[in-house]
Amino acid sequence: MSMPPTNRGTSLQLERIAKTFVGGVEAVAPLDLSINEGEFVAMIGPSGCGKSTLLRMIAGLEKPTSGSIQRIGQAGADIAYVFQDAHLLPWRRVLANVALPLELAGVEKQERLERAHRLLEEVGLSGLETRFPAQLSGGQRMRVSLARAMVTSPRLLLLDEPFAALDEITRQQLDEWLRQLWIDSKATVLFVTHSIAEATFLADRAIVFSTRPAKIVTDHDLSAHLPHQRLADLRGTPVFAEQTRVLYQALRTGDGA
Ligand code: ADP
Ligand code: MG
Repeated sequence: MSMPPTNRGTSLQLERIAKTFVGGVEAVAPLDLSINEGEFVAMIGPSGCGKSTLLRMIAGLEKPTSGSIQRIGQAGADIAYVFQDAHLLPWRRVLANVALPLELAGVEKQERLERAHRLLEEVGLSGLETRFPAQLSGGQRMRVSLARAMVTSPRLLLLDEPFAALDEITRQQLDEWLRQLWIDSKATVLFVTHSIAEATFLADRAIVFSTRPAKIVTDHDLSAHLPHQRLADLRGTPVFAEQTRVLYQALRTGDGA
């Protein structure tokens, strides 16, 4: 994906960040975490351990009970957040859905349509601009959602199990596309998943969380073992199997096994 060269990733500094919900559910225990500019980080952990809560705090959608989050090189509008559901506006055509963030930012019509067209081309959806979301497959809707997230060239991309509801082949294709998009964009990406294989394929660094409240069990450097450019056939290699094994062990440890 082509991005302006000045568009760099964000770095994040989390210090003793914690969240206890009203009613007493402790979702995130005090944790420290540094994310470097331009990193692709996968966050893995059992269901209900506090991953979404952590991501929402980073996005500024949830207020921490204690601790602090520092974003460096980041203006608020440069964060994009993608959920498991595509969350498209059903009454808007595909093109108008993708152009929406630019519309809200006051970008002039000609430019926002051009940019939306370009993003749709990059996610492989050229020709579907005038469809409504209901006329698309689940995988296509997710591509539209990602195109919409990227249309403002965000420097921090937060993804919360975006492909979890898709079939395996579609998911793998989107993983390959996302990895390439990250290489081209140099944005900082935080990707929450409960799939070990997906985390291994996508990320340069994998953080494994324990059961609730989320604590860091392992912070593993995948980039030391896996290539920068990742193609589909990587999934069948011994080095890939070895890395998934490492993360699987960590997940079992965090699960009290
Ligand atoms: P994950 O994304 O890892 O599956 P979540 O961050 O969604 O986990 O949730 C962590 C815990 O916090 C769960 O026990 C969940 O029920 C609880 N929780 C999440 N949001 C709220 C909320 N708004 N109010 C109360 N409890 C919540
Ligand atoms: Mg979640």
